[in-house]
Amino acid sequence: MAPGIRKNDIVIVRQGKDKGKTGKVLQIKAETGKAVVERLNYVKEFIKPDRSKNVQGGIMDKEAPIPLSRLMLYCEDCQTGVRPRHKRHEDGTRTRVCPKCDNGLDQAK
Ligand SMILES: [Zn+2]
Repeated sequence: MAPGIRKNDIVIVRQGKDKGKTGKVLQIKAETGKAVVERLNYVKEFIKPDRSKNVQGGIMDKEAPIPLSRLMLYCEDCQTGVRPRHKRHEDGTRTRVCPKCDNGLDQAK
């Protein structure tokens, strides 16, 4: 599994055309080491019309996967990418927190 980034995380893009933008992780593609991030890295997808499936065809905007190495967990309070710190709670659970402001980075499920 990729280091630290999970589905539903808010991430910031560190390199590439979407550098500095943030979004929510919709999907982790572990086998390719990439993540699909909401509203980021749009590409045009051409859809062929298929009458048998009643598909009209055309051009659709679609999120393309971004390599996880270009992404970093984002702290909305610090407004920056951070390396999360793991915090152990009294009930034994562990959550990820921002090393700067100590706010939780785990998104509600
Ligand atoms: Zn923070």
